[in-house]
Amino acid sequence: MGPFPVLMTLGALLLSGCGERAVPSIEIEGPTMGTYYSVKVARPPVGMTADALKLAVESVLDRVIAEISTYEPTSELSRLNANPGTDWIPVSPELHAVVAEGLRIAELSDGAFDITVGPLVNLWGFGPDARPEELPTSEQIQAARERVGWRKLELRASPPAIRKTRGDVYIDLSALGEGYGADRVAADLDARGVADYMVAVAGTIRAKGLNAKAQPWAIAIEEPLADRRAVHRIVPVSDRAISTSGDYRNFFVKDGKRYSHEIDPATGAPVERNLGSATVVGERAIVVDGLATAFMVLGEQRAPALADSQGIAAYLIVRDGDAFRGVATPAFDAYLARSMPEERAAGTAEQPE
Ligand code: FAD
Repeated sequence: MGPFPVLMTLGALLLSGCGERAVPSIEIEGPTMGTYYSVKVARPPVGMTADALKLAVESVLDRVIAEISTYEPTSELSRLNANPGTDWIPVSPELHAVVAEGLRIAELSDGAFDITVGPLVNLWGFGPDARPEELPTSEQIQAARERVGWRKLELRASPPAIRKTRGDVYIDLSALGEGYGADRVAADLDARGVADYMVAVAGTIRAKGLNAKAQPWAIAIEEPLADRRAVHRIVPVSDRAISTSGDYRNFFVKDGKRYSHEIDPATGAPVERNLGSATVVGERAIVVDGLATAFMVLGEQRAPALADSQGIAAYLIVRDGDAFRGVATPAFDAYLARSMPEERAAGTAEQPE
């Protein structure tokens, strides 16, 4: 554990490159969103210091928290959730954009991904509420499910506004919020003229240009193991975002059974599958973050079909007894071809904590 407390997070570990001579770079990290962020800038613009970068990055992330956090009672989203009305509620363009992306992924995944699933997330103890001693009863699950359903939300673009068709609908943007944060930090770095950077918010990463060794940023996909960290495969990523969701960090065990934080809106309960993790690569972090969660809920049968049909680059790690089986979609093949298996990665992982 590093200098600040962090949640154990998923998937993407940063790797130090090898070979070429390093050029100047800046690396910063810190807590955010109940987890951590880390930013690396290679070949920083003249005059950029680590302190100035940290200030800029943390002010962007703080703004994102003030917009979309369900853990911050005064955030714009928390105020929207607390509003019992069913009239149009004016919202910021930023909140509107994240909700719009959430609804797009909900439709794409036929409701497996659902930004109104929060009452169930909280009921099972994976949200801001304390985890209850006992498992939720079927009555409690049923009552929470009545508040859930992405079609209970309506969006208006101009001026931006959201309407809840039930006053007690509760929006939870946790499944794509880290990605949104990474995109916002990336946009800020772009505006500052930074050409080579890697931004990680927990398991979601935006990478641009090359690292300090003039190589593509090397991102490790972890083995979905709860008791230790091990690299499954290293993927080179440039000018792309990558995100991993999984069932192996955020879970609890009750009476010998494991319950993880991905909730299936169709059952109202944590998903039960052999899928250990889902990694998605694409242009925007908000999208790959949301899709990775969607694929975890869809599971090892339905996720590849959806990813193939949409040309999405996805890599699933499926549990096969004690072993793991990687399943790549055709669009992921290009990354797989340039990736390294775990044995060549051994010893090079640079843990963000
Ligand atoms: P992902 O796989 O990316 O997302 C899983 C999460 O999505 C679940 O935990 C649940 O919240 C939600 N979810 C579950 N099922 C579904 C479904 N079917 N469809 C859609 N969504 C689903 N945590 C804290 O402890 N303290 C904080 O102060 C805090 N602040 C935060 C502020 C912001 C702006 C955000 C976005 C998150 C914050 N979190 C906080 C949440 C914490 O970091 C989460 O664990 C994280 O966002 C979930 O990301 P993940 O990578 O673990 O999982």
